[in-house]
Amino acid sequence: MLVDSYGRQIRDLRVSLTDRCNFRCFYCLPNGEPPLARKETILTFEEIVEICDIFVGLGIEKIRLTGGEPLLRKDVEKLVEKIALLKIPNPSSQVPSQDEPNNPKSKIQNPKLKDLALTTNGFSLERRAEDLKKAGLDRVTISLDSLKRENFQKITGVDKLAEVLAAVEAAKRAGLEPIRVNAVIVRGRNDDEIVDLARFARENALSMRFIEYMPLDSAHEWDRQTVVSGREIYRRINEVFPLELKTASRGSETAWKYSFADSTDGEIGIIAPVTEMFCGACSRIRLTADGQIRTCLFSTKEHNLRDKLRSGVSRAEIIEFIRGVVFQKEPRHYINDAQFAPASRSMSFIGG
Ligand code: SAM
Repeated sequence: MLVDSYGRQIRDLRVSLTDRCNFRCFYCLPNGEPPLARKETILTFEEIVEICDIFVGLGIEKIRLTGGEPLLRKDVEKLVEKIALLKIPNPSSQVPSQDEPNNPKSKIQNPKLKDLALTTNGFSLERRAEDLKKAGLDRVTISLDSLKRENFQKITGVDKLAEVLAAVEAAKRAGLEPIRVNAVIVRGRNDDEIVDLARFARENALSMRFIEYMPLDSAHEWDRQTVVSGREIYRRINEVFPLELKTASRGSETAWKYSFADSTDGEIGIIAPVTEMFCGACSRIRLTADGQIRTCLFSTKEHNLRDKLRSGVSRAEIIEFIRGVVFQKEPRHYINDAQFAPASRSMSFIGG
């Protein structure tokens, strides 16, 4: 089991497959061509699978493939197929607990991956959804910040709303469910669409996630005045479509989940990291496309797993390295503190 110094169990690994993206969402990767990682620094599929295998042996239950845009990585389906094999329990990857290395009972029994997901902007999902499902992908999250063609283009820099809507349909047909749709809500940009996006979730039986705008944009133009709080998002939806909280506790989940009082179709998730920090229950860790472990979205420090792996050290040494890194996980983010320092990389490089 991976446990940090605050007793939080780490069960959720986000793996960025590439730092490249073909959208230019203003809140993430605005204007121009950002500096990209050199090809030789990017983890190969074999390295990614080896790392995922080690993490699953350490108790990771959920893996989310992300980016950049993960579907820009060639042959992603082949990678999914290999990672999906980790859903079959593998007794040989049991790892003894750090405190009791000689006690066989301290091993995680038959560690296995329980959930393999992918976050995408949806641009090419329509034609790939079925193959991804066949390869073993469980579900997808699709980003969709506007339902109006012109506004979608203003936000993302591309005229691809029709493709993204088709991606949602294709994901449904392929059974990549439950389908989540992410919308980052930014005042003056798409807050006038909050109710329309909630209606879209009802009409299409989707889980719509409303996310507060975080200071993770590469232009460092984030401004607190443009953050629409989770509370305001809830109020605006609830005025039109009364909501019911699904569970009193959200565990290590990022979203408060609501159902519609008058319909069993659709779900609303509100993710409010800025105004209602949930770091105390964080179970996540991230791996960048160039093999750096990040223990928090807002980390200013990264840990070079790629070089460790490539140096040819034993699996036991890699496990020791990972445990040491997890132990350094930050207690919380500092967005609301006067001394807040932006993360060392923007969301597209970290892997959202
Ligand atoms: N390209 C894929 C996509 O568009 O979904 C995956 C990567 S993207 C970085 C993952 C998620 O991060 C998206 O849902 C996006 O909306 C979210 N995101 C990016 N920048 C953000 C920011 N500054 N604040 C909040 N969420 C952000």
